[in-house]
Amino acid sequence: MATTVMLIRGDGIGPEVIDAAVRAIEATGAVIEWEPMDAGAGAIPKHGAPLPEVTVASIRKNSLCLKGPLATPIGGGYRSVNVALRQEFDLYANLRPARSFPGLVTRYEKVDLVVVRENTQGEYSGIEHFIDPTKNAAESISIITRFGSDRIIRFAFEHARAHGRKKVTLVHKANILKMTSGLFLQVGREIAQSYPDIEFTDIIVDNCAMQLVRDPTRFDVVVTTNLFGDILSDLTAGLVGGLGLAPGANIGEQAAVFEAVHGTAPDIAGKGTANPVAAMIAGSMLLDRVGQKERGVRLEASVRRAIAKGKDLTPDLGGSGTTERFTDRVIEELNAT
Ligand code: NAD
Repeated sequence: MATTVMLIRGDGIGPEVIDAAVRAIEATGAVIEWEPMDAGAGAIPKHGAPLPEVTVASIRKNSLCLKGPLATPIGGGYRSVNVALRQEFDLYANLRPARSFPGLVTRYEKVDLVVVRENTQGEYSGIEHFIDPTKNAAESISIITRFGSDRIIRFAFEHARAHGRKKVTLVHKANILKMTSGLFLQVGREIAQSYPDIEFTDIIVDNCAMQLVRDPTRFDVVVTTNLFGDILSDLTAGLVGGLGLAPGANIGEQAAVFEAVHGTAPDIAGKGTANPVAAMIAGSMLLDRVGQKERGVRLEASVRRAIAKGKDLTPDLGGSGTTERFTDRVIEELNAT
């Protein structure tokens, strides 16, 4: 029986990379029934809102979604739909793997880590306001709870166990943010006691950024709060070749949303040159989630082989290919296995 998955093509390069990912996913023989839905800037003319109620209802019903990037106005306008989705469906775990791609020249060759980012709390709790009528002072409230810390840190340890990973590094700023980041660290130290088979260590976020750039191979699973995870996962994406290659999964008890880490890339939207790899590997994570793991593994392996062969790579990887031509190469690899 086909699994129903909601499809949000998104804004900017979203439709280009999502259409490519759907082609590649279908070429694995995956049995998926897509249910297209609108969200983001593109939804406003039709529905009058960037996150229409019908879209929310569909995610609630289907619990699975493959999503393109959505535009968020900077400094004003409507609230981020991504953040709203994460909070509406309590998608508390954001998994962002970063693995080196053979054939791509990057500073390091053997990076294989995953950032597990808390996705609903911290500085992204959405509690922000100006504190004077002239709007010259503002404050933002960062919420960290024992419950929220406990479940994301456990998620990280469980992920490590399930994927044969050996070490969890908790990233914090407890020297300065003694209560919020301090609580996160304290909960981490407590939970680590229940996982004697996994090495546990903690590191202050600024030092972590420096250590990641100096030697990312010493990291395995990195668990951290929302804002630090957002920033560090872009950094780790850069270490393995850039945003066009970085997939992400937003996972909760009731729903899961798979997407690329990158945004709408307005500078290249509509040119047909967006790199579809991140969206494709997000698709491979989706297949894993829906019990079609073998197809997901084949898809990621085919993407990796296509990159290693270096034909029709998109411009962000130094090639002169297009989204469509590179997708053809991936499908050739899939058909060859
Ligand atoms: P961005 O990720 O869109 O772009 C950053 C740089 O990376 C650009 O130079 C872009 O061309 C390049 N890039 C990104 N994805 C690429 C791909 N697949 N192939 C080739 N090059 C790629 O970040 P931004 O410019 O800061 O954000 C643009 C918009 O996207 C904003 O509205 C932001 O809010 C939104 N955004 C959405 C999401 C999401 O929906 N998950 C994530 C991040 C940003």
